[in-house]
Amino acid sequence: MGASSRSASGSKDTDRRIGRRALIIGGTAAAVGTAVLARDELGRLWWRVPGVERPREEGAVDYRGARWVAASEANWRRADRPDDYGVDMVVIHVTQGSFASAVKAFQDPGHQAATHYIVGQDGRVTQMIRELDVAYHAGNRDYNERSVGIEHEGFVDRPQDFTDAMYAASARLTAGICERYGIPVDREHIIGHVEVPGTDHTDPGPHWDWDRYMELVRRARTAGTAETARTAGATGTAS
Ligand SMILES: [Zn+2]
Repeated sequence: MGASSRSASGSKDTDRRIGRRALIIGGTAAAVGTAVLARDELGRLWWRVPGVERPREEGAVDYRGARWVAASEANWRRADRPDDYGVDMVVIHVTQGSFASAVKAFQDPGHQAATHYIVGQDGRVTQMIRELDVAYHAGNRDYNERSVGIEHEGFVDRPQDFTDAMYAASARLTAGICERYGIPVDREHIIGHVEVPGTDHTDPGPHWDWDRYMELVRRARTAGTAETARTAGATGTAS
């Protein structure tokens, strides 16, 4: 729906931006004036302003191949990317546990962290947070705001965990993300959690084959695999 409701015309875009600005001013006043409003009620008022927020559908995914399982709202923050924060990075993680345990952890409000996606060793992809929103996965606020996080099922010290199916599925997913936000397919923009400034995490670890992965992403991007993914999400095209 995003693609159709978000017209490609510049004028509509401009209207939308003005709408956003008005909303911010109005929202601030509302927040100050009516502190009694519960957070979720304020949230609903926020949504009522037309033309500002892209509508969200329960269960909608940004990647056609993904199955939706919602993460706990404690593990992410509502946003309107890429309008409020530009998205220019993909961060690669490894779960240090099973696929199921990662899903469970991200559903747990006490976990305080989650990625947008989890890719299994069998190639399945589950989306738990919309790309619109900021997931808490990098341990660095700036990097969280500008990135999409992908977990991979396995342990960093077990090379056999990084299966062909996982690499292929993840590469298609990442190619789609790069397509949606115009992110260059290179190691400046597709990074490991270990490369995030300030982190003490080591994933994806020494057995993650970056050369192979980047080649697969490049190929998927060129082959237009990303094109098929693009129509699926309610976000539609980002640019
Ligand atoms: Zn990580």
